Amino acid sequence: MNGDDLSAFQAELGFDTLAIRAGYQRTHEAEHDEAIFPTSSYVYASAAQAAARFSGDEPGNIYSRFTNPTVRTFEDRLAALEGAQSCVATASGMAAIMSTCLGLLKTGDHIVSSRSIFGSTVVLFNNFMSRFGVETTYVDLTDMSSWEAAIQDNTRFLFLETPSNPLVEIADIKQLAELAHQNNCLLVVDNCLCTPALQKPLSLGADIVIHSATKYLDGQGRGIGGAVLGTKELVGDEVYSVLRTTGPTMSPFNAWIFLKGLETLNLRMKAHCDNAMTLALWLEQHPAVGNVYYPGLENHPGHKLAVKQQGAFGGLLSFELKNNSRELAWQVVDKTRLLSITANLGDVKTTITHPATTTHGRVPVEEREKTGISDGLLRIAVGLESIEDIQNDLHRGLGSLI
Ligand SMILES: *Cc1c(COP(=O)(O)O)cnc(C)c1O
Repeated sequence: MNGDDLSAFQAELGFDTLAIRAGYQRTHEAEHDEAIFPTSSYVYASAAQAAARFSGDEPGNIYSRFTNPTVRTFEDRLAALEGAQSCVATASGMAAIMSTCLGLLKTGDHIVSSRSIFGSTVVLFNNFMSRFGVETTYVDLTDMSSWEAAIQDNTRFLFLETPSNPLVEIADIKQLAELAHQNNCLLVVDNCLCTPALQKPLSLGADIVIHSATKYLDGQGRGIGGAVLGTKELVGDEVYSVLRTTGPTMSPFNAWIFLKGLETLNLRMKAHCDNAMTLALWLEQHPAVGNVYYPGLENHPGHKLAVKQQGAFGGLLSFELKNNSRELAWQVVDKTRLLSITANLGDVKTTITHPATTTHGRVPVEEREKTGISDGLLRIAVGLESIEDIQNDLHRGLGSLI
């Protein structure tokens, strides 16, 4: 029946159509919008059916730690957008990374990871995976020879985020996928900053895509969630087994919120990119501002690669003050009246962060400066407010530095 199930002709549909319609099977109530199924368990027509479900002979719902219709709709829709065979939704982005590690690594395995990754991911690798005998070596995201040199016989994952946060460096996913496969490793890409609207790592050769749905997939700061995407064998079987046994699954209500987020993902990402580009060009011209880091700028070292690999340049940018000091950077933060002072990103509301004393506050000074996170660096996750208002808000502090 019309609209009941798109899966038969899904391959013909465009990104925006999939974002709005993929993955849903209407119930007997003929509702137009996706239903939420807040149920922990499911019932069977007979003892024989219960037995068949439990033995796996008959597919179907048993318990919401295993499967839930609202969560499955989100999984199928995101899988369609990333071009993945399988997707499993998780309670958070960190639960997605942890489940991937538990599902695909064992004692004695080794990870080579970009140094420029989310702080909690570093803590997971260093303080927890290490307890189970999985060691991690960190390398510079854009330095191919250091990736190559760090690979050992027991290396199983190459792990990265591109663009990185906060300096928005760009890694060549295709090249790193080739390097991974030559060495019997998997390439795991945390695609949080780009989302499938701007970048599809699986199509460039990556094996696993990770999401924090908390960020742009929701896009409106309403919930915590995550996802892992990849092949049926790696994700649909191995990672899913961890989820259904250990339980960091997504709640049906959050899945519904993220479904609503996906519907406007492409539109929002376009608007984030437009605002970020305008702001980057404005900051470049500002007399109080030194370096501006945004891959859309032609002088950015990753610009050409970003043009090739991404559909647009994203919503995140950073800049340094000409007078590169913590005091003045804090002054610019404190003079804002509109921007949210928070480390969150991927929201319609613009946020401002001083990385050196927040997200990277625990990184030793020398290491922090080596990675380019100076005392005068400010990060903006550009939201969807009127761009003039964002500029005026930053100029309150920047103007006083001229
Ligand atoms: C926020 C974030 C995570 C963690 O996601 P949570 O939903 O907060 O657990 C992982 N990776 C990146 C790049 C992030 O920005």
